Amino acid sequence: MTTETIFARQMNMAEHIELVIESTQVGIWDWDIETSKVTFNEQWAKLIGFKVKELLPMNFDKLLTKIHPLDVKTINTIIAKHFNDNSGLYSVEFRMLHKMGHYVWIQANGKLIEHSLNGNPKRMIGTHVDISQKKVNAEKLETNAQLLYETQHIGKLGGWQLNLKTNELFWTDETYALHDTSPTEFNPTYDAGLDYYLPESKDILIEALDKAINKGIGYDLELQTYTKKSRKIDIRTTCVVTLDQGVPTYLTGIFQDITDHKSNQRKLEQANIDLLKANSDLKFSSNYDLLTGLPNRNLLTEKIEHTIQQSLQSNTLVAIAFIDLDCFKNINDNYGHHVGDKFLKVLSQKFKTTIRECDTISRFGGDEFVAVINRLTNQVDGEKLISKLLSIASEPIKIDNMLINVTASIGITYFPSDNSNPDQLLRHADQAMYKAKQDGKNQIKKFNIKENQDVITLNEKLKRITQALEMKEFVLYYQPKVDLRTKSLIGVEALIRWNHPVDGVLPPAMFLPEIENDLLEIEIGKWVIETAFNQSKKWTDLGHDIPISVNISPMHLQHPQFVSDLKSTINGYPDFKGGSIEFEILETSALKDINRVSMIMKKCNALGITFSIDDFGTGYSSLTYLKQLPAKYLKIDQSFIRNMLDDIDDKSIVKGIIELAKVFNLQVIAEGVETPEHGDLLLSLGSHIAQGYGISKPISNLEVLPWLKVWKEKPFLIDGSI
Ligand code: C2E
Ligand code: MG
Ligand code: MG
Repeated sequence: MTTETIFARQMNMAEHIELVIESTQVGIWDWDIETSKVTFNEQWAKLIGFKVKELLPMNFDKLLTKIHPLDVKTINTIIAKHFNDNSGLYSVEFRMLHKMGHYVWIQANGKLIEHSLNGNPKRMIGTHVDISQKKVNAEKLETNAQLLYETQHIGKLGGWQLNLKTNELFWTDETYALHDTSPTEFNPTYDAGLDYYLPESKDILIEALDKAINKGIGYDLELQTYTKKSRKIDIRTTCVVTLDQGVPTYLTGIFQDITDHKSNQRKLEQANIDLLKANSDLKFSSNYDLLTGLPNRNLLTEKIEHTIQQSLQSNTLVAIAFIDLDCFKNINDNYGHHVGDKFLKVLSQKFKTTIRECDTISRFGGDEFVAVINRLTNQVDGEKLISKLLSIASEPIKIDNMLINVTASIGITYFPSDNSNPDQLLRHADQAMYKAKQDGKNQIKKFNIKENQDVITLNEKLKRITQALEMKEFVLYYQPKVDLRTKSLIGVEALIRWNHPVDGVLPPAMFLPEIENDLLEIEIGKWVIETAFNQSKKWTDLGHDIPISVNISPMHLQHPQFVSDLKSTINGYPDFKGGSIEFEILETSALKDINRVSMIMKKCNALGITFSIDDFGTGYSSLTYLKQLPAKYLKIDQSFIRNMLDDIDDKSIVKGIIELAKVFNLQVIAEGVETPEHGDLLLSLGSHIAQGYGISKPISNLEVLPWLKVWKEKPFLIDGSI
């Protein structure tokens, strides 16, 4: 006999049920519908935290107060339905208020077991089971499922599974959605799924699936497919293989729409390509001329640099030819810029085909080109090639049915005879080209290295002269002018000297020509005027009235600030007396712009400055001109005076000048009076103011007063005492 049989025998049925109820923790209820009374067991009360007696008496309405307000209606509806059906089980889930204040989920099952005589429901019994935990779990499950659905949707992430035994293909909702379809619309199969892929993707996928099915190897691919609505999408599809005893049974994977990601990636790639292109365009435009495609100035300098290095190594010559088209502007002006541009393009190509492969032709700017001809063994070969460029440039070119032609001026310099850097070489070729233009265009000129050397030395000289001015190495010497009749001193001429620390006292011929037309000429001129004013004041202070004449260079005289500078100098000498300073201007310079010069002279006259026309006779002044110049003296050039004793022509010139001066009411000063004979002749010709070595050589300021003293005592040096 088994233990179970013994056990069954020992208990009666009621005890048995009681035991089951207790062990399963099921609450039992019994509802007398007519009286509304509800009876229940201990477990029923326990489910909501009470003892039986705490709940007694219990009726249906009281019970309803223990139900969650939102569930009451459901309960009533289901009970009503159960009463109505009168079949099956009453089953409902609802919440009941626990003694502790929270709600407990209850699963109620029951059955109407008795009707009254009139057929109304009379008695119903049933159970209550606590399903709170089950509810929580279900809710969690629901939330998880929902979350999974949402995230898959957000991530456009679908899934699929292929059962290899049945060949059934399963798609998740999102996979359908990604294909713009739904399970009701489309039945996915292995072949139907594949058909939507783009050809290239389809081939890749077939191969990958083949490997998965036959070899159990998974994949992770990025492909392109069409959706049911013919929308092209980028997808990522992966596959893992489930094996059963080494044999693939399921393929499972994701199916993800990565169109946005891919399109961003493509945009990025395109942006990268664009960037690379922009970079190379930029590189091209920084090195090449966009119109002609020829190397530009930038690249040219590099090429020259490279070429001269090569030339040094190979012991060959390089010609740098600067080509400037003559009157190219006319083409633009007459036919418009577009024609000019076309012309330049065609000409560039012709230049390019004329030079050799190893040479370079570059567009320097506008209508300027530079050819770099290298590997030359002699200059003659270079010139031959460059002559070809010259004749090519003058060939007519047909643009828009018009025959257009220009010529070119070309300047060349050769490295290494012109041993300069690329920039200098270009400048030298440019200078030579400029010469070609000046000499009538349409020709080639070679850069003259010697001339350039002269320019360099000149620059150095200018630097040194500037330094001399700063170092106060200049001094003024003074050469007396006297009246031959009275022997009195009528003034001195200030003559500049350079007290050179090494070379001694240098005459103006040694440095004034160097600064001619340089701004330095004005600086030195200002210094001379200032020094003369200063000296004049010193002599005046010593009681000597010695007018000083100052030589003014043409450039200085015509400087816009000349008169105002003079005013401020005069303002610095409150005791300045009109006539104590004179200006000597060259006849030749006065003639250049006579109206302007005479205006300046008048302004200076107004300030108390008188004028001499210096070196008179050399400028061939006409009478009309002379009349316009408000001068006080005419200084006859010393060349006439010196030779007048022997040269009858010079004598008549001197005579003529003296007569002329009388007509214009000008006084005459004769320069270069070296001997008493000169003096005598001058007096006989009617001129009596003289300056010359026969009276005194130019002397320093310190020597003037001592000389004057001697001169006053014995004013006849002219008689041969020097
Ligand atoms: P200039 O104004 O005609 O000055 C006269 C020049 O003749 C002076 O030469 C003087 O030394 C020279 N001379 C005077 N008498 C005789 C003579 O009997 N025989 C000979 N052989 N020469 C005589 P210097 O001082 O060498 O000046 C030459 C020129 O330089 C001046 O000619 C003048 O044009 C210019 N110069 C001199 N000083 C200045 C200056 O401060 N400023 C400017 N702008 N030019 C000056
Ligand atoms: Mg003079
Ligand atoms: Mg003179």
